[in-house]
Amino acid sequence: MEFCPKCEALLLPKKEGDKVILFCKKCGFETEAKEGVDYKLVVNIPHTEKDKIDVINLSVKKKVSEEEREAFEDYYRGIEEGGEETEEGESEGGDYD
Ligand SMILES: [Zn+2]
Repeated sequence: MEFCPKCEALLLPKKEGDKVILFCKKCGFETEAKEGVDYKLVVNIPHTEKDKIDVINLSVKKKVSEEEREAFEDYYRGIEEGGEETEEGESEGGDYD
């Protein structure tokens, strides 16, 4: 990990042609990454639940059949939808007269 010499924020790697540039999100400082150092391009790693599921599906695709994969997707879709269904509920006690 490299830090910005100006503001000490973490420098983020980005690809520019065949080079890796380290840049500072805060002040815009840029420097070429040192050769031979394996900087991981972390900028685009997804963090949402949905993206996580895509990653899981990708790794699963190789091992399971199409059918199993669909079941797997359904399973995760169920988890996603589960949280919102409670909102509808049954409207109890609305019609007392
Ligand atoms: Zn900076």
